[in-house]
Amino acid sequence: MQELKHFINGAYVAGTSGRFSEVRNPATGEVIAKVPLATPAEMADAVEKAAVAQKEWAKVNPQRRARVFMKFGQLINENMDALAECLSREHGKTLPDAKGDVQRGLEVVEVCMGAPALLKGEFVGDAGPGIDLYSIRQPLGVVAGITPFNFPAMIPLWKMAPAIASGNAMILKPSERTPMTSLMLAELIQQAGLPDGVLQVVHGDKEAVDAILDNETIQAVGFVGSTPIAQYIYGRAATNGKRAQCFGGAKNHMIIMPDADLDKAADALVGAGFGAAGERCMAVSVAVPVGKETADRLIEKLVPKIEKLKVAPYTAGEDTDYGPVITAQAKERIEGLITSGVDQGATLLTDGRGMKIQGYENGYFVGPTLFDNVTPEMDIYKEEVFGPVLSTVRMDSYEDALNLILDNQYGNGTAIYTADGDTARDFAARVDVGMVGINFPIPVPLSYFSFGGWKKSAFGDLDQYGPDAFKFYTKTKKVTARWFSGIKDGVALNFKAMD
Ligand code: NAD
Repeated sequence: MQELKHFINGAYVAGTSGRFSEVRNPATGEVIAKVPLATPAEMADAVEKAAVAQKEWAKVNPQRRARVFMKFGQLINENMDALAECLSREHGKTLPDAKGDVQRGLEVVEVCMGAPALLKGEFVGDAGPGIDLYSIRQPLGVVAGITPFNFPAMIPLWKMAPAIASGNAMILKPSERTPMTSLMLAELIQQAGLPDGVLQVVHGDKEAVDAILDNETIQAVGFVGSTPIAQYIYGRAATNGKRAQCFGGAKNHMIIMPDADLDKAADALVGAGFGAAGERCMAVSVAVPVGKETADRLIEKLVPKIEKLKVAPYTAGEDTDYGPVITAQAKERIEGLITSGVDQGATLLTDGRGMKIQGYENGYFVGPTLFDNVTPEMDIYKEEVFGPVLSTVRMDSYEDALNLILDNQYGNGTAIYTADGDTARDFAARVDVGMVGINFPIPVPLSYFSFGGWKKSAFGDLDQYGPDAFKFYTKTKKVTARWFSGIKDGVALNFKAMD
């Protein structure tokens, strides 16, 4: 078993706390590594070193900083197989899905290759007599990224790439359940020419996170994880005067209209509901067919597709549909929620509880689970399940289906399947969710847009990656400059128009 280290000033540094967390291969249950949990003193030391490195990094012109990302992107591509293997081993997702995880992070790195264009300020010449007015974007200093287990490459890259391309140094605190992919990425960006100390990977749990939130040098915190922790981090960071954007959990609905292509809708529901074992913040966990006939036909199409899904370890081959969930506790919680659905009166059509795979009896596998006749009062609807469970909530009309989403506390992603442009436009305009798919199940915006939910799925201002990230990781200085040729002398005491 490997003992992991922090990555500080470009080198591996052993933890000194004596506290560790176990990293397990979820397909076998076996402990594959132990990860040190940093003390506040270790965090403070990493931040201090990052602050020294950041002063020099901020002086590097944006074009040269961007070149590090060109090389980094190339190295990620060259190491795609190794990254995916490391990711699948610690997370459990299939190898093709792990490559997708790396790929969607790589796309953010690609945008950072053009970061200078996103870091431009504004200029108005002759704003008054001899007066020019301009703004410049400057880095914040040391910033922190705190990331969840479910996208071990993509989300650390969402955090580190725009922050560093903007001239900041980053303290990355990856999930203690999937910390190894972050370490690989740190090595690769260092090989790409990033100066030591600009990216520090510091492992830890609540103690390390609190040390980030209370550290006076850290200027901004970008968080992704569950809603209660997002809300906590947002509150404590903001109280301490930091910029914060904290993205939380989700409950994503897909409305299926009577005029929808039901084969395509069923395929989309299976992919978006069960891909990555449902452990995606953009997973569709609620199908909302409109009208009895739509619901009956949809269920008829869904059941055989779901029964055919192959659940297996990532090593089982490319035809595997999804792997285990992350921990034994996650499996137990998901199975408990399935039982609550049965107890509260939902119709269980496929039951994923108690799944055992030969040779992998200690793995955390949950079979694909489909419920019909779920109602909004049931726990299986109210809770974010974060597992391979799709609930069907039948609605009589489009308005009822829309109201179900409007009443939900989360607002991360949603989708509608319909052949009618008017309904689709109305839905996009009225739904109070940050990312909307029209005949598209997982509407994660491409990296030159920005990503973010609404309501209890996000706390703070601005979205992550894309143009918003460059705003989040920089502060704008506004400069008013006057040169005196042709300007008369005279004292002015009144506040007045510049002209
Ligand atoms: P989590 O909230 O348990 O952990 C996220 C991070 O917070 C980890 O780095 C963890 O170490 C830290 N943390 C955990 N407990 C803490 C505490 N008490 N105090 C301070 N820090 C703490 O989330 P997770 O289980 O790793 O990830 C799954 C969740 O993330 C789901 O709810 C999912 O919807 C959400 N998610 C959201 C998005 C998004 O963009 N909205 C993207 C991916 C995942």
